[in-house]
Amino acid sequence: MKKFRVGIIGLGTVGSGVVECFRKNGALFASRYGFEYDVTKVAVRNLDSKRLVEVDRSIMTTNPEDVVNADDVDIVLELMGGQEPARTLVLKALNNGKAVITANKALIAESGPELFAAAEANGTRIFFEASVAGGIPIIKSLQEGLSSNGIESIHGILNGTCNFILSCMEAGTSYTDALADAQRLGYAEADPTLDVGGGDAGHKAAILASLAFGQWFTSDMVSVRGIDELDLVDIEFARDAGYRIKLIANILKTEDDKVSIDVQPTLVPQASMIGSVMDVYNGIKILGNTVGDTFFYGQGAGKDATSSAVVTDVIDASQAIASGMIKDFSGFKAFEGASGPAELSAVVSRFYLRVVVEDSPKVLSTITGILGDHNISIASITQKESHEKSVPVVILTHDVLTKELEAALSNLDSLPVVLEKPRTYRLEDFD
Ligand code: NAP
Repeated sequence: MKKFRVGIIGLGTVGSGVVECFRKNGALFASRYGFEYDVTKVAVRNLDSKRLVEVDRSIMTTNPEDVVNADDVDIVLELMGGQEPARTLVLKALNNGKAVITANKALIAESGPELFAAAEANGTRIFFEASVAGGIPIIKSLQEGLSSNGIESIHGILNGTCNFILSCMEAGTSYTDALADAQRLGYAEADPTLDVGGGDAGHKAAILASLAFGQWFTSDMVSVRGIDELDLVDIEFARDAGYRIKLIANILKTEDDKVSIDVQPTLVPQASMIGSVMDVYNGIKILGNTVGDTFFYGQGAGKDATSSAVVTDVIDASQAIASGMIKDFSGFKAFEGASGPAELSAVVSRFYLRVVVEDSPKVLSTITGILGDHNISIASITQKESHEKSVPVVILTHDVLTKELEAALSNLDSLPVVLEKPRTYRLEDFD
């Protein structure tokens, strides 16, 4: 029986799940793969914190360097999060020739190329399945399961916290109350900015785009809008038109062979698979040029889903070490899949547009005139009767160049009869 010694930095939510998984499935791993696992070192910040799992105190340390430099560690799991000192520790582990597993999307998105280079230089590999979509094996699917395909597009719900909040809002809860519920249930951090502002999904979108299109896209190439500016009224208008608003990561190859990556609230049909993904779940639709449409669904975060991905990486690392193939692949290999990042303004899409206007004659014709001037064709227009001086007009467009929509919005915003900044969201029909 081949034995692997595992060192873990971080025994929080994910680290505890990993230890539980080894304990639950250790005999299965021995029988199925012929591998035995021994957790030999665990680093935490505070030795006296209450833990979800009991770990022998003799293997615990508050110095993560003890894990990355240990002679009795073959595989290092970085489960502490954040940029530093995680980056330095991972580099040290790789430079020491150890295989590294991380769940840290911010680290991979920002420092991926540096880490892959260190892995390659040292004949080892960094694995990061848990960094995107928790328990859904989306990295493996892009790198292995769909390897016969050129990827055309990826659309994903990649942040369970936002999807939970949006699901609550659809049931009539305000954004503030839905966020408070998410925090009470442990889905959102005390500071939820990275989730609700779209940054977390932006990191994940950058990683997926990089794997799909063969060059490293960093987070600053992702255009990001969060759900923190959404109004309940937009969710209601969307629902009445047969749509749901989801925070969608859109990764699209444009006509000039570039890749547009954005994260933004997007209207999707209620009856579509992605529109049916509710609560804290994730869903990802990938269009390949051979397979056609595929859809991946599952828990995008949490102790068990995330530790499933981490431990699967540990088994993959063990197989690669045992076969001597660990040196053959650092975790990412560049290829000619696209010619660079595209400007969001070059994307053609449908849009939802809500303009709050003065309830007076000729206003509607002025708005539609401005849209027409920018080649924006209207699919539907809704104006509910109002007893106020202002009235919302909701327009769903046909396909339009984002640049044209932005120009039209700027014109509309300057009209005295337009009483609030117009709201607009992308609309995807997925047909
Ligand atoms: P967590 O519950 O906050 O746990 C972090 C752990 O790291 C804690 O045990 C903490 O020690 C330890 N730690 C932090 N800084 C340290 C330091 N300087 N030295 C030693 N130990 C240190 O975090 P988590 O939710 O498990 O997340 C871990 C990673 O997984 C993050 O990169 C996260 O983005 C990623 N991830 C998490 C989920 C999820 O559902 N939670 C899903 C996907 C990916 P103490 O316990 O002593 O404070």
